[in-house]
Amino acid sequence: MQIITSREQMVSIAREIQRGGSTIGFVPTMGALHEGHLSLMREARAQCDVLVVSIFVNPTQFGPAEDFEKYPRDLKSDAALLIRESVDFLFAPTGTDIYPPDFSTYVTVEGLSEQLEGASRQGHFRGVATVVAILLNIVRPDVAFFGQKDAQQAAVLKRMVRDLAFDTKVIVLPIVREESGLALSSRNAYLSDEEKRAATVLHRGLSQVASAYENGEHNGVRLLELVRATIAAEPLAQLDYVSLNDAETLKPIEHIAERPALLSLAVYLGKTRLIDNIVLGESGKQDAAVARG
Ligand code: AMP
Repeated sequence: MQIITSREQMVSIAREIQRGGSTIGFVPTMGALHEGHLSLMREARAQCDVLVVSIFVNPTQFGPAEDFEKYPRDLKSDAALLIRESVDFLFAPTGTDIYPPDFSTYVTVEGLSEQLEGASRQGHFRGVATVVAILLNIVRPDVAFFGQKDAQQAAVLKRMVRDLAFDTKVIVLPIVREESGLALSSRNAYLSDEEKRAATVLHRGLSQVASAYENGEHNGVRLLELVRATIAAEPLAQLDYVSLNDAETLKPIEHIAERPALLSLAVYLGKTRLIDNIVLGESGKQDAAVARG
């Protein structure tokens, strides 16, 4: 595996790969890699000739009171994991390689960025869309892989890729969970043992909703109430929001009819904020979705 730190070098490698007629699969990450990230890489490896992974803790997607400084960083152990996954190129740029001095161009995906995570994390999706646009322009991947774990991010990026005509196919892959049901996340490293045990309440709430839905409960108010009650019963958990939205447009919905619905939530365990979600009404398919830009 080659480690690339400069934008220019990554651009010229990507150009060369394309001239040679090989396809590039790309997995953008912020590092602190876990099986969720690796699942994206394995699929990229299977679908594309050359696999590029980026690790960049993107400052513009963190709010001023958020955990940018303390976000877990361990490039050495991440690189060892990537070698085991047969990654060809690790792109690990510096801050100024992504954001040169006087940087002043941002991407805003209107209508999908303001609600849910966007309401709790002002400017978050502007930061995400901007950095992914820059990375896609540098790496020029044929296919980019994202996780359903960040459902709103996936919706925002699919829209951006379509609207701005990026020549990249976006593939969204299912959430990888621990046996306890807890969705893997780099932020799980912040949890104490007790908080980690309590954090299984997110998945428990979502599973109850899934069963209720399967048993014919399609009323949004009642489904949301189920989750609220489950979270409220866990003393270490504090609900930030739970919401039912159209899975593609992210418009709030009150009743699940023919279109897939996203039930998503954010919960504090102490100071750590975790998110999770479930898609209802996707004809047996839980999370995976594909869009062409
Ligand atoms: P991050 O490093 O948190 O920016 O995540 C990089 C990519 O990995 C994003 O597309 C995430 O949605 C995805 N991802 C994170 N956690 C999981 C998980 N538990 N299962 C599947 N994908 C995940």
